Amino acid sequence: MSTESTDCLFCKIVAGEVPSETVASNDRVVAFKDIDPQAPMHVLVVPRDHHGDIAQLAAADPALLADVVALADEVAGTLADGQFRLVFNSGPRAGQSVFHVHGHVLGGTQLGWQPA
Ligand code: C5P
Repeated sequence: MSTESTDCLFCKIVAGEVPSETVASNDRVVAFKDIDPQAPMHVLVVPRDHHGDIAQLAAADPALLADVVALADEVAGTLADGQFRLVFNSGPRAGQSVFHVHGHVLGGTQLGWQPA
């Protein structure tokens, strides 16, 4: 699906119907601060169009996935070291809780690696 989903939280954030702290945006992608940050920088980067997860986005619109990655890199460029982790949880067992694809941009500290 590539249109707005009426029950989707991130579609509502993109539409401005639910408040968020936007840090960057363009005509295809929006980046906003995660409400429960797990690192000094924790920003979510979402396409304006609704796609459920990264695989669905890649299949439907690979250029849009590239736009998501490009905005993540732009946001991370505000960090002193410019270094970041970009995470796409895909499916509940991977930790996905909002089913509108989003990349977590994490940085601003030395990151650990303990996914389970
Ligand atoms: O990967 P996952 O689907 O679990 O990520 C969803 C993220 O959305 C969480 O990190 C959560 O803190 C964030 N969130 C948010 N604003 C909301 C609801 C959830 O930033 N209103």
